Amino acid sequence: MIEFRKTSKHFGDLKVLDEVDLHIDVGEVVVLIGPSGSGKSTLLRCINGLEQISGGDLVMDGISVRAGKKQLRLIRQEAGMVFQQFNLFPQMTALENVAFGPRKVRGASVAGAREQALALLEKVGLSDKAGHYPAELSGGQQQRVAIARALAVRPKVMLFDEPTSALDPELKQEVLTVMRQLAQEGMTMVVVTHEMAFAKQVGTRLIFMEHGKISVDGHPREVIENPPSERLRDFLQHVE
Ligand code: ADP
Ligand code: MG
Repeated sequence: MIEFRKTSKHFGDLKVLDEVDLHIDVGEVVVLIGPSGSGKSTLLRCINGLEQISGGDLVMDGISVRAGKKQLRLIRQEAGMVFQQFNLFPQMTALENVAFGPRKVRGASVAGAREQALALLEKVGLSDKAGHYPAELSGGQQQRVAIARALAVRPKVMLFDEPTSALDPELKQEVLTVMRQLAQEGMTMVVVTHEMAFAKQVGTRLIFMEHGKISVDGHPREVIENPPSERLRDFLQHVE
């Protein structure tokens, strides 16, 4: 589904992704961890073309991010993204936020988009909040609307960039529950998170990034319980 082929990304002289080779299959739930600045967000952003790669290739569902503008639009539809800071449209209700993508990208009818948005809000446990504006929702509720909004475009892959980092502990769980459910339904997911319990329960694979490279790639439980490198062991001690 996603294939990094010696993918590099530079910002000026700074090498943020350094010839990354990574193959992600349909249905995998890849948890991505690593120190701040190691390139996790950049890796995610390259997948859906928010960042342009500098070298190598990156192929998403058979389409290269280098292929051109039209193909890039397709890739963006296929990869839904959820950010740390929710990024909802503040002037739109929860329902309007979720219905926006299908209207704009998929050319859905007003009624069709509305019906689908209501179903998605129900899926994330927010059918009673359809008419609320983001400012009237808790952080956990806003993030669940953001997940529904990303799902509305019917992506094949969901990318999560520290989706619970901005949330109080008691609100994290409601977001993680929605993500767990999504994984159980077979969604291909790449998740930057330091929620190690989630990684162990839901992840099919754990990747530790350092300095723009993948330094450990393995089964979450095995890697967490028996870290193959000193630096990963140190890192895990700080997040757990
Ligand atoms: P992480 O998500 O692992 O914390 P990032 O992918 O956000 O790391 O960033 C990796 C490195 O790239 C950092 O040193 C960061 O400062 C740098 N970086 C990220 N985006 C940009 C940008 N748009 N311009 C310049 N440097 C950037
Ligand atoms: Mg980041």
